[in-house]
Amino acid sequence: MKERSPFLVGYLDNETNQSALPKSSDVVIIGGGLLGTSLAYYLSKSKVETVLIERDDINREASGTNAGSFHFQIALHQLTPNMSESEKRRLADEVRLQVDAASLWDEIERELDADLGVHFDGGIMVAETEDEMRVLKEKDAIEKEAGLESHILVGDEMRTFAPYLAPDLAGISFCPREGHANPLLVGPTYAYRAWQNGAHFRTGCDVTRIERINVGGDLKGRRFRVVTSRGVIECNRVVNATGAWAAELSSQLGLRIPLGLSGLHVNVTEPREYFLKSMVQHIGRRLTLKQTHNNTFIIGGGWPSREEKFPKRYSNTWSSTAGNLAVALRVLPMLADVKLLRTWSGVWAFTKDFKPILGESEKVPGYHIAMVPTGFTLGPMVAQMLSQYMTATPGKGKLPSEFNIDREVA
Ligand SMILES: Cc1cc2nc3c(=O)[nH]c(=O)nc-3n(C[C@H](O)[C@H](O)[C@H](O)COP(=O)(O)OP(=O)(O)OC[C@H]3O[C@@H](n4cnc5c(N)ncnc54)[C@H](O)[C@@H]3O)c2cc1C
Repeated sequence: MKERSPFLVGYLDNETNQSALPKSSDVVIIGGGLLGTSLAYYLSKSKVETVLIERDDINREASGTNAGSFHFQIALHQLTPNMSESEKRRLADEVRLQVDAASLWDEIERELDADLGVHFDGGIMVAETEDEMRVLKEKDAIEKEAGLESHILVGDEMRTFAPYLAPDLAGISFCPREGHANPLLVGPTYAYRAWQNGAHFRTGCDVTRIERINVGGDLKGRRFRVVTSRGVIECNRVVNATGAWAAELSSQLGLRIPLGLSGLHVNVTEPREYFLKSMVQHIGRRLTLKQTHNNTFIIGGGWPSREEKFPKRYSNTWSSTAGNLAVALRVLPMLADVKLLRTWSGVWAFTKDFKPILGESEKVPGYHIAMVPTGFTLGPMVAQMLSQYMTATPGKGKLPSEFNIDREVA
């Protein structure tokens, strides 16, 4: 039988988490979002000594505030108008990565032996106009080329397939592979399993400084002193998994990590009888819409929230909430009398080329970054890739060169 949510177990409210920071560890991971927790799991599974340090609680930032969508189809934010052949090739590469991530999500509940609310009920992308329909077809061709199944439906075929959608839409694409999971469960479950494997966690522990220690021998200078609000820990390898804050700590080591930051909204409604099996997105406007298996609707798609200075959380704006809901109603008119219950915001970090920043710095050997813009969809997979790199024989591990953390993407 699958275990109950780790939230109910309260595994971090233990004496160990309250006790002093260990003096040293092979690996220190900074950041307890999905990237940090899944990496802690994969490293601890390979018996690598690991301490994860989080300044707040596990899963409090992007990993616990996102919409939980698997983005396997090419989404609005990845598209540019009049795409060149090289841009199409870049997109095809991204789709291949997304297809690989889908395989990991197929296995994740079995791997972690837990119910994470993973559902592969397919994804619909709607087009309202003939111009959007042209983009939808272009996107569909790139996906097919990259090995992702998708189908274009128009007219009566579309209305029969998805009778709940506005009948006057120009058309849809349907990707049977798409789906979603519960973001409140995935990161904490990875953390829980990592903890069971022997990884150490310290929450409420703010990393304020990373210093290199000059040592000789095999380590050849690759040792670090990580200074936190709860003491100092030394390690051979650091992984910066601080998401939107990854640039701040990296700059202390002379590394420039060009990240864009954006506050995003997500909305949840009251429950209604379950009818919307597939996730719904829009090719030309900001929308992701799904009905959870608790029967509520989660509505998002990248509507901006108001920037605030840390530690204040980004705040909601009515114009974004209203705009988001207006698009949802245009596409799914039967939501008209469904009440909105709550809107929240999170901070999203992205690179200009939308590729992950993943691996070890050549400029600062031993210093790693694990960051990826579509981080709920791709986070566990890139964490697994980084773990494989870090557990390979020194010098033998490989990661895609386009993820290189020293690259300039500004
Ligand atoms: C509103 C919203 C909706 C989204 N929807 C989707 C979606 O549907 N699908 C999808 O694939 N992606 C989505 N994303 C993107 C996805 O959520 C992120 O890419 C992903 O969660 C990033 O995970 P992370 O672990 O890198 O960062 P985070 O989850 O932000 O974790 C970073 C952690 O580092 C900690 N930290 C920072 N500085 C320090 C320090 N100095 N010391 C100690 N700890 C520190 C923070 O407290 C935080 O817990 C969405 C993002 C947002 C904000």
